[in-house]
Amino acid sequence: MIVVTGQLSIDEALALLLARVQPLSAEDVPLRLAAGRVLAESGRAVIDLPPFDSSAMDGFAVRAEDTPGRLPVIGQSAAGRPFSGTLPAGAAVAISTGAVVPPGADAIVPVEETSVDGGSVAVAAAKPGAHLRQRGGDAPAGAVVVPAGVRLRPAELGALAAAGIASIRAFRRPRVAVLATGTELRQPGSALAPGEIYEANTPLLTAQLVAAGADVDVLAPVADDVAATTAALATGITADVLVTSGGVSVGPHDLVRAGLAELGVEEVFWRVDVRPGRPIAFGVRGRTLVFGLPGNPVSSLVGCELFVRPAVLALQGAAEPGPLFLPGKLGVAVRRDPRRAQLIRARLRVEPDGVVLEPLRGQESHMIATAAGAAALARIDAGAGELPAGSPVRYLSL
Ligand code: AMP
Ligand code: MG
Repeated sequence: MIVVTGQLSIDEALALLLARVQPLSAEDVPLRLAAGRVLAESGRAVIDLPPFDSSAMDGFAVRAEDTPGRLPVIGQSAAGRPFSGTLPAGAAVAISTGAVVPPGADAIVPVEETSVDGGSVAVAAAKPGAHLRQRGGDAPAGAVVVPAGVRLRPAELGALAAAGIASIRAFRRPRVAVLATGTELRQPGSALAPGEIYEANTPLLTAQLVAAGADVDVLAPVADDVAATTAALATGITADVLVTSGGVSVGPHDLVRAGLAELGVEEVFWRVDVRPGRPIAFGVRGRTLVFGLPGNPVSSLVGCELFVRPAVLALQGAAEPGPLFLPGKLGVAVRRDPRRAQLIRARLRVEPDGVVLEPLRGQESHMIATAAGAAALARIDAGAGELPAGSPVRYLSL
């Protein structure tokens, strides 16, 4: 058992975490329900794509050697309604975009380069192959259109459909239970008694997890009571992933880690050198992953983005679960923390030579309203002194 409670960098924590994740089982998914799913098996073209030589333009199908010249128009080929027969020498067939190029034709003259007069057409010079889409030119039958491990976005879905694939093998979506802990928490819409606050982490985490492909089961928030906390954790731990918020620090009311230990969860790490979100806990029980995120909403947001989201994607077999840090540069100077990486909420400004990150005012971990304006989390690694304005940094897009 590795229990890491000392100094642990973001990257070390991610490595410990991803070493514990195995993809879930695979299932068949019809293509219309496959957006956001991760392919368990590569999608291969069922047919040559395009399935036949077709025209890239509206115009006339000809033999290149007959051009330039005036040719009789002997028929037409429309999309879905091919010309029947072969194009003889010295003739043209009117053709529309996407229509079958008749056998015998080897070039298309676009309509803009022709003039029709009665039953004949004057065509400009054309080279063999002009404006012709070759059968299999996009993907030959059997070729991998989308490799295993890729999360399906619109372009991939279009590609799979065009290649004749009606359903895919995808890894199962993880069931993720979300549990907020804290006696002080109330639902927005109800009145607050003294000392109470509105529960913010459940909606925040649910949105992040759904975006990562999870099926989220929200548990009722639980008060800081040993028996109630352990009972709620016991319910949550039946999911593929349990994500809790709050109660992972060192105060007398921080009950989550002890409750998890009682349930047989092996703690893999606790505390990562990152701000916000340092007291994050990660453990496993069997194949269930458990994340204890600190309760401050920005800490939960950052912990989910850095650690839970990659785990959820890795469970779905994603080849690149992230987190995906992009290159940018600082708009202003930022003081480094000698011991911890900081993830700073920032606005993005896109300039001709790259992205500039403008830190928001109010970087404390309870300031979720301030964080609401952030488009990015800029990563300021631990170090001495100040990073001057213009320094290259990496960021996570929110
Ligand atoms: P904890 O991690 O339990 O010590 O909580 C740290 C801070 O976050 C405290 O100020 C809590 O009141 C606050 N907090 C904990 N859970 C939530 C939540 N679900 N929504 C909003 N704030 C929370
Ligand atoms: Mg608490």
